[in-house]
Amino acid sequence: MESRRFTALQEVSKRTPVEPIAPNGQISAYYGSNVFGHDAMKEFLSEEAFSMVQNAIEKGTSIDRKIADQVASAMKNWATGKGATHYTHWFQPLNGTTAEKHDGFFEPSENGRAIERFSGNQLVQQEPDASSFPSGGIRNTFEARGYTAWDPTSPAFVFDKTLCIPTIFVSYTGEALDFKTPLLRSLTALDKAATDVCQYFDKNVTKTIATLGWEQEYFLVDAALFNVRYDLQQTGRTLIGASPAKGQQLEDHYWGSIPARAMAYMRDFELECHLLGIPVRTRHNEVAPAQFECAPVFEEVNLAVDHNQLLMDIMEKVALRHNLRVLLHEKPYAGVNGSGKHNNWSLATNTGKNLLSPGKTPKTNLQFLTFFINTIKAVHEHADLLRASIASANNDHRLGANEAPPAIMSAFLGDQLSKILDDLETSVTDKKMTPEQKTALKMGIGKIPDILLDNTDRNRTSPFAFTGNKFEFRAVGSSANCSGPMTTLNAIVAEQLIKFKHDVDALLEKGIEKDEAIFQILKKEIVASKNIRFEGNGYGDEWKAEAKKRGLNNFNTTPIALDAYVSKSSLKLFEDLHILSHREQEARYEIALETYTKKIQIESRIIGDIVTNQIIPSAIKYQKTLVDNVSGMKAIFDGAEFKKVADAQLNMIKEISERVTIIKNDVETMTEERKKANNLEGAKKQAHAYCDKVKPLFESIRYHCDKLELLVDDAMWPLPKYREMLYLK
Ligand code: ADP
Ligand code: MG
Repeated sequence: MESRRFTALQEVSKRTPVEPIAPNGQISAYYGSNVFGHDAMKEFLSEEAFSMVQNAIEKGTSIDRKIADQVASAMKNWATGKGATHYTHWFQPLNGTTAEKHDGFFEPSENGRAIERFSGNQLVQQEPDASSFPSGGIRNTFEARGYTAWDPTSPAFVFDKTLCIPTIFVSYTGEALDFKTPLLRSLTALDKAATDVCQYFDKNVTKTIATLGWEQEYFLVDAALFNVRYDLQQTGRTLIGASPAKGQQLEDHYWGSIPARAMAYMRDFELECHLLGIPVRTRHNEVAPAQFECAPVFEEVNLAVDHNQLLMDIMEKVALRHNLRVLLHEKPYAGVNGSGKHNNWSLATNTGKNLLSPGKTPKTNLQFLTFFINTIKAVHEHADLLRASIASANNDHRLGANEAPPAIMSAFLGDQLSKILDDLETSVTDKKMTPEQKTALKMGIGKIPDILLDNTDRNRTSPFAFTGNKFEFRAVGSSANCSGPMTTLNAIVAEQLIKFKHDVDALLEKGIEKDEAIFQILKKEIVASKNIRFEGNGYGDEWKAEAKKRGLNNFNTTPIALDAYVSKSSLKLFEDLHILSHREQEARYEIALETYTKKIQIESRIIGDIVTNQIIPSAIKYQKTLVDNVSGMKAIFDGAEFKKVADAQLNMIKEISERVTIIKNDVETMTEERKKANNLEGAKKQAHAYCDKVKPLFESIRYHCDKLELLVDDAMWPLPKYREMLYLK
């Protein structure tokens, strides 16, 4: 019988690129046509309804029921015109996916007929029987009601003949059960805090939004190969597999010409994105073979997060059309780079100003420095929380593994801005500044834009790097929902800006002039946040030592990193800003620990399964051919001669036995450790046991399996090999 692997490889050899079917016209002709956005609303809504929805989007005002009915009816008419038959509330529960439960637009009527119907009630709120989503103990099954509620700030869209309505997901008692709720709350807090600070510089600023441009990395693998690797299927990563002779050493993949099948796939999913108004624009090969990246033009954070969640979904669906599977896991293959999702973050005002982009005058640059320095200070204050916000079993494989930033949080500023901060620190004093001093300072900061223009230094090893007009949070994992890190970043910066304003106002009350007050507080924050600044190589061991001296933490596993979720300062931060109550935050902590445990548990079971049912039998089968051969030789050759001809094979037979024995023992030990871990009380203890006792056995099992892969007859090896999976035509 042909092995499943060979059948799969034969399928792969016949593949050709699948040409996407593009709508007529240029991108601009169909861009956003499946979104119930500004133009569609204008067309389908009455003027009254249109302005009420716009107000809700811009000012967060509520929409009354009568209007909601109108909006629902208009949405339905628009969506059915696009071929939609069903609608769903589309939300982001804490299991990391997006959730949808479809309902038909029709209602049965008399005489066995049906009428199309969609009311304001159905638009605004739903009570899905969604008791199986993680709630961290917030909901008991006997009070399992969870509500989804319409988020008008992210427009509805039609996908797969379904009208999708972005919603939040909260419990009966109003507690957040999803990613979106705290994100929206954090954006409100940040808007208020940043707008208040903007008043020092520009009275016309009445609203500040946070912006996000994510960069999504991913791998592609042929679907036939994926289908015969249970580890990939079930865990998103390969749990065993020897490194290919040619990996990424030659660095010939990065920005290389895109393989034809990948190209056809990209064009296809980009097309779907454009129909949905997701502004993906950039595509290129990444460092590892079969690894790619796609990035959009940045958008307001809430929208950008929804678009990223939607993108990941689209990527998976479109891949199937191309006989491909997309791997969004942070580390699908050992030995080659994993995937991240850089989160480029900034702040923009209603006056069209990017607050992290220096302007043309000393005044706008003082504003720039204010937001720049306060962001750094916020990272300094809450570095551990920021680290926790990107912690996951998947991401543990990347952080600190010399392919992604270390688990130590630090901020990279670049030479020029570091110097400006150093200069500010020395030139601003507590004493009243002379006019000359002030002029000198302002002249200095007036030069920032010119300096930054040539300031192209980039530090790829920093988790949080300033890149000219935004910060790039580079430690986020590729499969993550960006909401977690974005909520955290918004929150810590909001808290810091409030504190800053409080301090500056205190000086103003003492009669100190405004610019001088701002300079003085900025100086104080520069001094206080110094040890979070790092310009060197984040991958080096020297940094680990240096960071330790500075008192910066290096939490390199998820269970340890997650403690910061529930530290006093984190709980206070979220509670004070009305983003998450203690109970909500503690629930998130529980869920994150449980998710970690479950992931490692599943990996452990699968590794045990594959090893016992696929690897060991193949090794033994091969060993038997060796044994048969050696027995045959024994019949032909006499004593001394036999030893000579059979020696190599005897050693191979022995090696197989030795490795099989070790693997078998490790699998048994692992099963025992799992049992012990399962019997522990409490999510924290369990997560630590899985991390410290179960997971380390993966290494040893894998090591010996990979050695066997190199030894056993290729024709007998059951699993697609790295060199086969990482190769794409
Ligand atoms: P890189 O050299 O990192 O590719 P780019 O300028 O191409 O730099 O930007 C990368 C990402 O940063 C893109 O998604 C882009 O939209 C985003 N970006 C640019 N400006 C901003 C901003 N002001 N706020 C948020 N994201 C931004
Ligand atoms: Mg980048």
